[in-house]
Amino acid sequence: MSTPHLERLHAYCHQLRLYQVETELPTLLEQAAKHERSYSEFLEDLLSREIHAKGAKHLAMRLAMARFPFQKTLESFEFKFQPSIDPKVVRELATGRYLEHGENVLLLGPPGVGKTHLAVALAICACQNGYSVYFTTLDGMIRALAAADRAGKLDSKLRSYTTKSQLLVLDEVGYLPLSRAEANYLFQVISNRYERSSVILTSNKSVTEWPEVFGDHAIATAILDRLLHHSHVMSIKGHSYRLRERALAAASAQAATLATQ
Ligand code: ADP
Ligand code: MG
Repeated sequence: MSTPHLERLHAYCHQLRLYQVETELPTLLEQAAKHERSYSEFLEDLLSREIHAKGAKHLAMRLAMARFPFQKTLESFEFKFQPSIDPKVVRELATGRYLEHGENVLLLGPPGVGKTHLAVALAICACQNGYSVYFTTLDGMIRALAAADRAGKLDSKLRSYTTKSQLLVLDEVGYLPLSRAEANYLFQVISNRYERSSVILTSNKSVTEWPEVFGDHAIATAILDRLLHHSHVMSIKGHSYRLRERALAAASAQAATLATQ
């Protein structure tokens, strides 16, 4: 039922951007009248619904802006499968305290051990804690910076990798060798973020192999120096989860074939 009074309330809510209250107002008014709720209870319910809805909307925006390749969480990570990872360390990182001080997280290890999964899961925690996040592969970032450089817009692109997100996830460092110019792009991003905003980085190479990947010993050392100064390094030693899944699938297919014989 619509009355001029209710219409005015709708308009006020809209003007104040209380969209959730606006949607739920008729039902909530009806319930409050039926259950004889106090003014304070009614207001508390109303405002908490708005806060909840705004929180969910902002989180959805942060997740969309982060451009994750997939959304994997810590809950779906099997710690038992990767005993070289201390769940306590991961749980501490999930609190996001490292972000307050611009500390970095390095996830190192061979393919398939869950580096990208953990990087995304920790970055999702950061989004939940209210931080802005951007996810990219190193290759993707280097290509974007090189294109901006060719277009004479390197400075503004570098700024976007430095200031646009409070947490930058750099995935797959070390998969492809870098030229000196490319390594220099990475150096500029890392040194601009140094002690200001965090980076989560994944690599299949140990840090001792980095000079080889970056082609230039001096730049590799300068990058590592800044990255490692305030950092949490997790070296994952273990088997590939991808191969385990493939082995399990093959075993169950074999079992199914045997069962039909
Ligand atoms: P990496 O980046 O180290 O190569 P990924 O994080 O891409 O590995 O993991 C490969 C796949 O295996 C992904 O689908 C990931 O979700 C899954 N995975 C890896 N490790 C685990 C784990 N310990 N528990 C659950 N899933 C895992
Ligand atoms: Mg990966």
